[in-house]
Amino acid sequence: MVEQSEASERVYQEKIRQIRHRLMAAFGKPEWRDPLPPVDELVSTILSQNTNDVNRDVAFEKLRDTFPDWESVMNAPAAEVIEAIRTAGLANQKGPRIQGALQEIAAYTDGEIDLSFLQDLPTEEARQWLMNVKGVGPKTAAIVLLFSMGIPAFPVDTHIYRLTGRIGLRPANLNVEKTHTYLEERIPEDAFYDLHLNLIRLGREVCGARKWHCYRCPIEDLCAFKEKNLAPD
Ligand code: SF4
Repeated sequence: MVEQSEASERVYQEKIRQIRHRLMAAFGKPEWRDPLPPVDELVSTILSQNTNDVNRDVAFEKLRDTFPDWESVMNAPAAEVIEAIRTAGLANQKGPRIQGALQEIAAYTDGEIDLSFLQDLPTEEARQWLMNVKGVGPKTAAIVLLFSMGIPAFPVDTHIYRLTGRIGLRPANLNVEKTHTYLEERIPEDAFYDLHLNLIRLGREVCGARKWHCYRCPIEDLCAFKEKNLAPD
């Protein structure tokens, strides 16, 4: 039994290695958009919930232009913050979340709005600290940790969740939250960065939620999806 699970783990690891290699060959070494300081990344990721990158960036820039610093955002009347981030949608929800997050950081750091203390915590504690902030889920926490602080975490967004299900990199019925833990325990840490970004690109360009083009997919032979579309359209 133990031998069988060791063998299936070896198969899984080899599959990850090949997927990573193929995606790298197809898309190149990916780069995260401008890396932001951790607090900026946290705010930007809260703004990105349920909207596209363009609207997120417009809202983030307007917020930065409207207020001189994060302390001013934290202390501003809620309506002014909501107005500044309207482009991102769900502003009535995101505004208070952003202000709440800034207040939590300030309360923890004696008034300094800075997340660098997370560097000194074990990864799980750092993740838990972020997830205790209202409106911060495992994806947002992992994005801040991985892309802004270089702490190994594997963010699971809608593309990653869909693709890992189709490819067969996670059990089909695993929810998003458990998928974070499942993938982090299996994917090598040094693959988190490029695999996350290249799987998202595959999801956007080849393997969409409603349309998937398996005939031009660089990992078609590694994918376990039962409803492949192999006919060029
Ligand atoms: S083979 Fe098809 S379903 Fe599988 S990852 Fe590629 S596009 Fe998606």
